[in-house]
Amino acid sequence: MSEENCIFCKLVKGEIPSKIVFENDDNLAFLDINPVSEGHTIVIPKKHFTTLEKTPEEEVIKLFLTVKEVAEMIYTKLDIDGYNVIQNNYKAAGQHVDHSHVHIIPRSNRDMKIRLTIPRNSASNEELEKVLKKIKS
Ligand code: 5GP
Ligand code: ZN
Repeated sequence: MSEENCIFCKLVKGEIPSKIVFENDDNLAFLDINPVSEGHTIVIPKKHFTTLEKTPEEEVIKLFLTVKEVAEMIYTKLDIDGYNVIQNNYKAAGQHVDHSHVHIIPRSNRDMKIRLTIPRNSASNEELEKVLKKIKS
């Protein structure tokens, strides 16, 4: 998906309506149109970057400072017990919109049927050492 037909760029330009939670010069936070839970919010840089590692450092800093600010708004204003911060990169990880973004998903003690927990495997010391070597090479 190119910048020209990026849905989140269209939201930034106001070409598509959205429910804006928070906005400053660099970031926009809006309600997800298909929420996992009530108040599910997406935070984006206004400039188009595709994934986290392709987003410049200063933009990442500003983005996550805004995530913190919006998380505080959501946690204090909504009657919730917690929230998940999720950031998907590439199709394999569930990214559907190719404009770098962060999900803030409100959670309550009563919503245990929402499963955001990823199944885990056990790993031997050798396996951990092997992958550690690859990452650091
Ligand atoms: P991803 O799956 O890429 O991590 O998340 C993209 C999110 O954007 C999805 O949760 C989806 O519901 C949301 N989304 C897609 N199109 C629109 C839209 O036009 N407006 C709003 N508010 N959210 C959208
Ligand atoms: Zn975009």
